[in-house]
Amino acid sequence: MPHATVHPLPTASRPSPSPAVRVGNAVTIGETEVVVIAGPCSVEGRAMLTDTARAVRRLGAAMLRGGAYKPRTSPHTFQGMGDDALELLAEARAATGLPVVSEVVDPRQVERMAEVVDVLQVGARNMQNYALLAEVGASGVPVLLKRGLSATLRELLLASEHVRVRGNERVILCERGIRTFETATRNTLDVAAVPVLKAETHLPVIVDPSHAGGRASLVTPLALAAVAAGADGLLVEVHPDPATALSDGDQSLAFDGFAELMRRLAPVAAAVGRALARPAPNGEVAAPVSLARPGAWRGERVSAS
Ligand code: PEP
Ligand code: MN
Repeated sequence: MPHATVHPLPTASRPSPSPAVRVGNAVTIGETEVVVIAGPCSVEGRAMLTDTARAVRRLGAAMLRGGAYKPRTSPHTFQGMGDDALELLAEARAATGLPVVSEVVDPRQVERMAEVVDVLQVGARNMQNYALLAEVGASGVPVLLKRGLSATLRELLLASEHVRVRGNERVILCERGIRTFETATRNTLDVAAVPVLKAETHLPVIVDPSHAGGRASLVTPLALAAVAAGADGLLVEVHPDPATALSDGDQSLAFDGFAELMRRLAPVAAAVGRALARPAPNGEVAAPVSLARPGAWRGERVSAS
């Protein structure tokens, strides 16, 4: 018996004149180059964000991530810096030239966030928040849509349709691990999602190895597997001092870990006929990373409570 496909998907499966998603004027996701997006789970302050943005840019990331609004499982943990983080993301973007992706959790935030960020992230917990999908669809801003914790690929693609039927074709799908019976990892990375989604739609597909594995030591092997399987990009959590991160420190790479990931990724990308996208040349060139003053940003960070 043939395996089921995720069809019918009237919009996402339709041949598109331009399957790739252009972000800003320098980054394109879904062409030959593999786009690495890196940065902290949460924006925690100005210096930690700009330090991280400069570090990941120097090490080859083409985009910056950073959460302003955090949909945490527990309401008693850090919920993000909110609007203040948006200001800091805008500054980091201006300082480095890196386009920015940040998660939107409420339809009322879309208009404001669309003025600041280059890509609106819809998180796993909101994959089927139809009011939010409609609003990001109406915004016309590229959308990074994460697979829900227990969502099938068909459900992910139908969620992407909610964005696309509002006229926004610029959707990037993200596999970030799914909930299974396995407890050794935070989630189970569904590597097969990459070739299945790429076969079923023309949408770019990226992988988040950080939330999939849940531990820093797993991020590089999962990232290599993702690119070997055909992922168009990666979303990776990087923090200047993971041990003190206000969210997802266990799975965040320090700068040296991210450097190693990038070193090991290049030959894997080449082996599957791809190259790593370089940071845009119009960004800041090789600003010194403040590795020389570790912890300098700590004094300014917000409190975890
Ligand atoms: C995140 O990217 O920090 C995040 C909350 O991811 P997810 O929605 O995949 O859990
Ligand atoms: Mn996170």
